[in-house]
Amino acid sequence: MYFQDRYMSQEQRMMRDTCRQYVDQVVIPFIQGDRTREWLMDPDSRLSPRILEQADAAGLRALGVPERFGGIALEPSTQSQTLALIATELARGDSGLADKLVQNWKISVLIAQFAPEHLQEHWFTRYMNEPQFLMAHCLTEPRGASDRWLPYSVPEVNMDTKAILDGDHWVINGRKQFISNGYDASLYVVYANTDDAVAMQKGTSSFLVPRDTPGLHVTRCNETIGGRFMNNGEIVFDDCRVPADHILVHNDALGQAGIYFRPGKVLVAAKSLGIGVGAYEETVAFVHERVQGGRVLIKHQAVASRIADMATRLEAVAALLRHAALAVDERSPDADTLCNMVKVFASHEIVEVCKHAMELHGGYGAMLEVGIEKYMRDALINLHSDGTTDVSNFKIVRSMFPETAGSYAGPE
Ligand SMILES: Cc1cc2nc3c(=O)[nH]c(=O)nc-3n(C[C@H](O)[C@H](O)[C@H](O)COP(=O)(O)OP(=O)(O)OC[C@H]3O[C@@H](n4cnc5c(N)ncnc54)[C@H](O)[C@@H]3O)c2cc1C
Repeated sequence: MYFQDRYMSQEQRMMRDTCRQYVDQVVIPFIQGDRTREWLMDPDSRLSPRILEQADAAGLRALGVPERFGGIALEPSTQSQTLALIATELARGDSGLADKLVQNWKISVLIAQFAPEHLQEHWFTRYMNEPQFLMAHCLTEPRGASDRWLPYSVPEVNMDTKAILDGDHWVINGRKQFISNGYDASLYVVYANTDDAVAMQKGTSSFLVPRDTPGLHVTRCNETIGGRFMNNGEIVFDDCRVPADHILVHNDALGQAGIYFRPGKVLVAAKSLGIGVGAYEETVAFVHERVQGGRVLIKHQAVASRIADMATRLEAVAALLRHAALAVDERSPDADTLCNMVKVFASHEIVEVCKHAMELHGGYGAMLEVGIEKYMRDALINLHSDGTTDVSNFKIVRSMFPETAGSYAGPE
């Protein structure tokens, strides 16, 4: 099923094809070659270094990096749409790998927008020279993340992580958890409170924090149900000092991070879609091979009906995804609404697609060595990614009815 071809430009088709070749020739054989690798308890030994090296060779790490540093410039009017196509394709191979690369793309865009030129030159040069170089975006704290996605206009819900200016350095103290690439990133974008007297929207700043900064401690790799080739981590900042010029956005970091959040939701939906396409493709092959009752499964009408349902859900997700990505690229006023809609819709629909895949594989659906159960585990991760379903639904309604659903109670 290649339902997106009709809408692609020639450039997008070429990039999609390059990515598909990489996924088919490198990623899928790696995943299928040893289904136990994702369960190794040493996070460093799960993904072979050659997977990122070959992603690099295919140009898949350079997206979002400015051309002057060797990056691949994407046409701004179709940037989110193109990234969505590539993220879908990557997640078709492995969603954890897609997570790894998507974080790099989004943070590259953020750095290109907000970091001073000398820091861009330093970090993009390193990034382009080191295929294993990863980046992480640190918002979530132990006290909770939904408040960050659905900010209350009261100081009581401010970030616990604080940054204080001391001479020509910012001193950061706090703890971030559940961070994608958090375990093995070389560079972190960290959100911290810089003004306690005002609400979070007005008093949160973002900082570039290199991994080797004294006071930055990576304290754990979280073991997750899915997306296991992305190492999710926890980071503690203990009097962590970064030079004053490492601040990206002062006080309005959450507002300015729209450049990251909107495409971010499109990309979560794209990853969901890719997982669904993978599950669908393997299921279609299976029902054409497996024989029950004297005929291949697809010839049983109940089976055929499930295949139709899977295909319809994939088409619906793909259509809403294109629509939302277009709205982001056009900076349309409904972009926020559509991004949240597609993120929620895709995550739920793809879980349904994976349920069908598991049902149609019978007992094989539950077997580690077959890999269908992996699609389900990977799909479940996306339900709450970039905000839970309920919080995303609040944001949808709030953007449609700002007068009535636009404000929320603060702390009790
Ligand atoms: C695999 C993975 C990758 C992640 N990557 C990152 C990352 O790269 N960077 C990062 O910063 N974070 C990341 N996160 C964190 C993620 O964004 C949060 O887990 C998510 O936003 C939910 O926050 P929470 O876990 O604190 O749950 P909570 O905010 O405590 O929510 C718990 C429950 O309460 C509900 N709830 C909360 N507030 C309300 C409300 N006002 N009204 C009604 N219901 C409410 C929620 O919907 C949810 O059901 C990641 C998490 C995972 C698991």
